[in-house]
Amino acid sequence: MSSSGMPDLPAPLTNIKIQHTKLFINNEWHESVSGKTFPVFNPATEEKICEVEEADKEDVDKAVKAAREAFQMGSPWRTMDASERGQLIYKLADLIERDRLLLATLESINAGKVFASAYLMDLDYCIKALRYCAGWADKIQGRTIPVDGEFFSYTRHEPIGVCGLIFPWNAPMILLACKIGPALCCGNTVIVKPAEQTPLTALHVASLIKEAGFPPGVVNIVPGYGPTAGAAISSHMDVDKVAFTGSTEVGKMIQEAAAKSNLKRVTLELGAKNPCIVFADADLDSAVEFAHQGVFTNQGQSCIAASKLFVEEAIYDEFVQRSVERAKKYVFGNPLTPGVNHGPQINKAQHNKIMELIESGKKEGAKLECGGGPWGNKGYFIQPTVFSNVTDDMRIAKEEIFGPVQQIMKFKSLDEVIKRANNTYYGLVAGVFTKDLDKAVTVSSALQAGTVWVNCYLAASAQSPAGGFKMSGHGREMGEYGIHEYTEVKTVTMKISEKNS
Ligand code: ADP
Ligand code: MG
Repeated sequence: MSSSGMPDLPAPLTNIKIQHTKLFINNEWHESVSGKTFPVFNPATEEKICEVEEADKEDVDKAVKAAREAFQMGSPWRTMDASERGQLIYKLADLIERDRLLLATLESINAGKVFASAYLMDLDYCIKALRYCAGWADKIQGRTIPVDGEFFSYTRHEPIGVCGLIFPWNAPMILLACKIGPALCCGNTVIVKPAEQTPLTALHVASLIKEAGFPPGVVNIVPGYGPTAGAAISSHMDVDKVAFTGSTEVGKMIQEAAAKSNLKRVTLELGAKNPCIVFADADLDSAVEFAHQGVFTNQGQSCIAASKLFVEEAIYDEFVQRSVERAKKYVFGNPLTPGVNHGPQINKAQHNKIMELIESGKKEGAKLECGGGPWGNKGYFIQPTVFSNVTDDMRIAKEEIFGPVQQIMKFKSLDEVIKRANNTYYGLVAGVFTKDLDKAVTVSSALQAGTVWVNCYLAASAQSPAGGFKMSGHGREMGEYGIHEYTEVKTVTMKISEKNS
């Protein structure tokens, strides 16, 4: 451990042999029913890492059947003492910690994450999130209700049933933990569909599920594509809930599929265009750095990116200049290489989409301060890019870019900036920088966002609920609110013979 409480950073593993490439159903490895596989790539080298069995509808059916069976009344999972359920999740967290180096290396190779970030940040959050949920397992309890004395009434917080968990490629281990942790601690069984781009860490975790001793069928992991495996989950008549993280476009499809099938419960964590507001009285060094980290972390591939930065007129020029200096300080390269702190975008499609938005910014009259182009001749790298003189009507000010591109806008007054920050269909997170307590409170109350950070950014913890207002989704993940998204409340009322008080 270093003095900061973080573990020391080891060197990444070399020459990893990929061990797990099959579908994980009922604690066993399965080939796909169709016999099909799909390729998985390293975004830094564009090389194929391996082929993975491709789940489709028939495989999802098998997984749902296994999960349903594991959820039957009287099953080992349903009859287990809740504290033992917690112990299994603690065991899983311990095994992930044991394999932290392997998982961080895999995450870096497959998702293009800078190794140090994968090891120190992603794996750290993942392990903490699972332990947080493990602690909840035996504390999920109902209430007694004071009804008419002829009756006795209480609530049970029951698991919902079979939960489909679908998520994208930008933080595979974090997203996995934020979904299986709450689902399992409440006693549900799950079908996990990781993103087709990044199934490898989830498949290693599958092996740990078995090693930890979870009963067969409690956790099933079925990599595959969205319109096939993903749609089979969201439209399945025997799936009771779907928890989705991804684009707003697909979130709408999931909710529609849920409505058209069995009205399964849906929680959604979707796209965003997050405002970050810097007042002239803010600590400038700190605001520049947080705003910078807020948008460039993970090469900008984050739904909570600070992608719409409003800076008060009096400090605008200096803020832009300092932000540009900061954005030029990157070492590009293979994210496994020590010292490299800027990796590739996930794939060609994302790379092209980001480049297209950068071009739109130039065409629509924003001032390109630095970056603005690709880097290197292999891998999907894009230079950290800063635009100033951005106006609200530009595409780069309105659309989620999901890349290393900072938009800096100017504002004059508090009322104006609140209106402009809220003038979006999204509402996931926001940031405010000021030393004035009144401003901090006024702005954080007024912003339409599920999380507001004051004088900081990206300060997330497993204990804090996260989720979106408006088209950034509904429901919350993690924290106590996130746990309750995985329970059904049942009221039991019984007639008693003697009226009592
Ligand atoms: P991105 O395009 O950034 O990958 P998506 O929202 O398309 O974001 O994907 C997020 C997750 O949703 C992935 O696991 C993907 O396979 C899945 N997905 C995509 N389309 C669908 C769909 N029609 N139904 C269910 N899941 C889907
Ligand atoms: Mg997509």
